[in-house]
This record gives sequence, C-alpha cells and structure tokens, in this order.
Amino acid sequence: MKKRILITGGAGFIGSHLCERLLNEGNEVICMDNYFTGAKDNIVHLLDNPYFELIRHDVTHPYFIEVDEIYNLACPASPVHYQYNSIKTIKTSVMGAINMLGLAKRIKARILQASTSEVYGDPLIHPQPETYWGNVNPIGIRSCYDEGKRCAESLFVNYHEQNDVDIKIIRIFNTYGPRMNPEDGRVVSNFIVQALLGEDITIFGDGKQTRSFQYVDDLVEGMIRMMGSRKEFNGPVNIGNPNEFTMIELANEIIDLTNSKSKLTNQPLPADDPTQRQPDISLAKKELNDWEPKVQLREGLTKTIEYFDGLLKSGWTRK
Ligand code: NAD
Ligand code: UDP
Repeated sequence: MKKRILITGGAGFIGSHLCERLLNEGNEVICMDNYFTGAKDNIVHLLDNPYFELIRHDVTHPYFIEVDEIYNLACPASPVHYQYNSIKTIKTSVMGAINMLGLAKRIKARILQASTSEVYGDPLIHPQPETYWGNVNPIGIRSCYDEGKRCAESLFVNYHEQNDVDIKIIRIFNTYGPRMNPEDGRVVSNFIVQALLGEDITIFGDGKQTRSFQYVDDLVEGMIRMMGSRKEFNGPVNIGNPNEFTMIELANEIIDLTNSKSKLTNQPLPADDPTQRQPDISLAKKELNDWEPKVQLREGLTKTIEYFDGLLKSGWTRK
C-alpha cells in the first residue's frame, strides 16, 4: 500500500538511498534537510518524480505535516562534522528527536530512529549485542554524538512507554557506499579518494583498530524491514555487517582494487577512538525475517570506488 513518508536528513548519504528505494516501491516521499552535510546533488535525480518533495528545514525546529511514517536520520555522522559544532550536534539529536516524536504522537505515525553503534562507545564486550550498555566517555570529544544519540534512544523509549508512540530504533554500524561526502573524513571515503589521487593513505594510530563495514543497500533493506516489523518489536536492533577488518587491511584492499601506488602513512589516533567494533546481528536475523548483509567488502568497495572515480573525473577537487 502506498504510504506518505517523511525522511529527515534525506539529502545525506544514507537518506538519499532510502528516499530512492521508498520512491521505487511506489511511496510518496518528503525529504527534509538543512544541507549541513547533505547536498541537493544527492537527490537531484529524484526531483522529477511527482511523488518526491524536498523541504529545507532544520529538525531542531518543530515541523508539522501529515505522514504515515517518519525516518529520523537528521544528524551529522562523521567525527569531523559532528565535532565541528558539538552543541548543534547535541541539539540536532535531542531536539530533533523531541520534535519528530511530538509530531509522531500528534499524527499517530510510526517513527524510526537512526541510532548508532557509537552508543556502545569503546566497547568492552565483543561483538556487541543490543543488551550491552556500552562504555562511553560522557565528556570526551565524541560525546556530543554518542550521548546525543543515547539521549534520543531514551526519548524514543519514553515516548513509547508514556504516550504509546509507535517507535522503532536501529543501531547502525559503519556504513559506506556511493554518495558519501568525500570531505567528511570517514575512513572509507578518505582512503578511496587518497588511493585514486595517489596520495598517502592516512592510518590513524597503528591501524590495528577494527571496524565492520556495511554496504548501504544492506542497511536500507534492514531499515525498511525494521519499519515494517511487528508492532510489539521496538528494538533497539543492530544493523551492520559482522565481517570485521583492521584499518590496515581496509587500506590494503583499497590499494589493491584501485591499483594505486599510494603508501601508508601514520597519523595520531584521535582521542577516544574505539579500538574494536563488530555487531552481533542475531536479533536482526530473528526479528527482521532472516535479514543479513548480502554485499561483502570487495564488492561494495568496487561500487564505491566507481562512484568516487566518476566524481573525480567530473572535476571534483578538495575545498
Ligand atoms: P550524512 O551526514 O550524509 O547525513 C545526515 C543528513 O542530515 C545530512 O543530509 C545533513 O545535512 C542532515 N542534517 C544534519 N543536521 C540537520 C538538522 N539540524 N536539520 C535537518 N537536517 C540535518 O550522514 P549519514 O551517514 O547519511 O547518516 C545518516 C544517519 O545515520 C545519521 O543520523 C547518523 O547518525 C546515522 N548513522 C550513520 C552511520 C554511518 O556509518 N553512515 C552509522 C551510524 C549511524
Ligand atoms: N581512520 C583512519 N584514517 C582516516 C580516517 C579514519 O585510520 O583517514 C580511522 C579512525 O581513527 C577510526 C576508523 O578509521 O579508527 C573509522 O573511522 P570513521 O571516522 O570512518 O568512523 P568511526 O570512528 O566513527 O567508526
């Protein structure tokens, strides 16, 4: 059945893929964004679709609209961008959640929160199940993001308990793919652009820290299944690819796939950088109809490299 769906942060990397997929499934999509880290370029190909609407709006201010579902994605996601204006990051997570939950309550819409593996901080339990409460530094440089997202989860659960709002929470693990912002400092985009330009690949610390990388199509499938899951299942649920790599392994894979002559160089490890991260996805498999990631690292990187290669050939240069 055709639904009317609001996506906050819809002009960002993940949001643009979600807009596209939901439109392709015959829904009406309203994309709300303030373009802090997103861009019109990410959704310009959707503008001809009469069932797509684009709204410039900041989620920290209330917004009123009639929709069936809300995906709340608005929030800068890379450390460089979320630390740029840390107070604004907290406001976006917390006030954005309050505004969207208030809207969901009023119009009785189902609402999904894009939470993050960062709620586990630098995890002491490995891999991380949803029952783990995490190891977050509440006053560290990542806290504006981590604690903002943790507070948003708390708001979601409390609006559900107190006001019966129909909520869903997903915890997204490192996701990559076409339309990542080449300047947002995330490891996959940094390494690919460096490899394509023949620059040194910047390994922070000793490069032995791990992450588990998920291709964006797998995430979008998981998000949509979570939105459609049984009413009693609110999450939080981990959505990520359990295959775990060190940053050195990632760099070598990218050098190999791009035939690059780039060399690895070491730079200081940022404060509070988590040493390991891997999702336990048994709950997602159980509740989301056997959901699991389908795209493995080499295949996903190949598609992402194609995208960045096209971007560089179209004349993109560093600001
Ligand atoms: P992104 O930066 O590409 O997208 C975020 C979007 O939100 C951008 O379009 C940005 O302009 C918009 N935005 C930021 N502040 C806003 C505000 N105040 N009002 C309205 N719009 C605003 O990042 P992404 O990777 O697409 O992440 C999307 C969501 O997924 C975020 O909530 C992020 O925390 C979450 N997430 C992403 C990852 C990942 O690996 N990409 C991992 C965990 C969680
Ligand atoms: N990283 C790196 N070189 C870079 C960018 C990041 O070695 O040019 C490391 C970073 O220190 C972290 C990992 O890659 O350990 C993932 O960083 P990213 O910012 O992509 O995601 P997050 O730390 O939020 O998981």
